[in-house]
Amino acid sequence: MGRTKSQEAFQSALRVIPGGVNSPARAFGAVGGSPVFFQRGEGPFLWDIDGNRYIDYVASWGPLILGHAHPRVVRAVQEAAACGTSFGAPTLAETRLAELICEAVPSVEKVRLVNSGTEATMSAIRLARGFTGRPKIVKFAGNYHGHVDSLLVAAGSSAATLAVPNSPGVTPGTVQDTLVLPYNNPQALEEAFQQHGEQIAGVIFEPVAGNMGCVLPRPEFLQALQRLTRQYGALLICDEVMTGFRVAWGGAQSLLGIQPDLTTLGKIVGGGLPVGAYGGRAEVMDHVLPAGKVFQAGTLSGNPLATAAGIATLEELKENPPYQRLEALSEQLAQGLQQAAQKAGVPCHLARCGSMLTLFFSSEPVVDWDTASRCDTKRFARYFWGMLERGVYLPCSQYEALFLSAAHTQELIEQTIQAAEEVLQEVAEASSD
Ligand SMILES: *Cc1c(COP(=O)(O)O)cnc(C)c1O
Repeated sequence: MGRTKSQEAFQSALRVIPGGVNSPARAFGAVGGSPVFFQRGEGPFLWDIDGNRYIDYVASWGPLILGHAHPRVVRAVQEAAACGTSFGAPTLAETRLAELICEAVPSVEKVRLVNSGTEATMSAIRLARGFTGRPKIVKFAGNYHGHVDSLLVAAGSSAATLAVPNSPGVTPGTVQDTLVLPYNNPQALEEAFQQHGEQIAGVIFEPVAGNMGCVLPRPEFLQALQRLTRQYGALLICDEVMTGFRVAWGGAQSLLGIQPDLTTLGKIVGGGLPVGAYGGRAEVMDHVLPAGKVFQAGTLSGNPLATAAGIATLEELKENPPYQRLEALSEQLAQGLQQAAQKAGVPCHLARCGSMLTLFFSSEPVVDWDTASRCDTKRFARYFWGMLERGVYLPCSQYEALFLSAAHTQELIEQTIQAAEEVLQEVAEASSD
């Protein structure tokens, strides 16, 4: 598979864009080599600028649950564009998208539309602080909530919960009110609340983690989240930017039976255009300006094109729910990958929730960032390139989930498993050299 045009394009991009990309995950840094430049997507397929075709399992990192260029979404965007791209004033479409979100996610009574997942989480933690009048936010190592300054933290080495900045440009002052805890660990959460309970405004978490690879939550962890936030009067902020409308119409919270105070959304709610949202109990949401005093604004928030794509996507999901089919296809892929790894003798652990899944190159189950970080990322890189050579476009990092779309078919899953059998054999042979 020749990719010389992609390689040249990357060189041009490097001259004018830092690292050649507008978001670091795209740069293939974790697998080496240069990224693929795409020209076109249709259904489950992508075509690069050299004319190669791939089965796509990235789905633009989550939004494209209907596949690329879904006719209903394309039509909605075209019709909206013809009527003007932005008014900076209320439109009927914003209310429609908000109604769809509130209907799908019962814990959301009112919702504010923003332009990205980052904006949604940033606004939600400001609201939690404004509502409770408390300073501290708890987050979990390995969970990602966008590039919000105060959430760009790693667990400190000395005190277990003390956050330290994990990017230059984030000051110790900015993160002093962030506590970082291990995921899936109810004891650590209990201790943090015992120590800081009266100071904690909210706990933000991924209900099914997707940003350290797919990591499933333990029931006792979810119970502790629900119980401790209630007991101490802190808000439970469920970050469903990835899982919302992905693992179920009602999000991960509907599958797992959790009742958050606030929910953040993004990715699928924009149907491939820039939309984020945060919502929750009306009593809490009514603290947002101009109903309340917590400031949050956006020139392009509720943008007509983005809103049209979001409505078209959610209405399609509501009228023709793909979730049962996605469950069956995803299980087929999961089993196929697991068996391929077993056959090749490559120790792997597969985690899946609905149509998001990760094949971890690890001999132990991955339950938190500690166990995730022990994966064999060299083996993953070999696997990634082998699959790419066979026309399967996977996320270019061990620490991402792959996604299926409603456009994928059983035949494509079989082709993917076939490719994985060959590639994992190569991975096994390369490792024993
Ligand atoms: C992608 C993601 C975000 C950030 O969303 P952006 O639109 O990239 O800003 C936040 N939280 C989670 C769980 C995500 O997966």
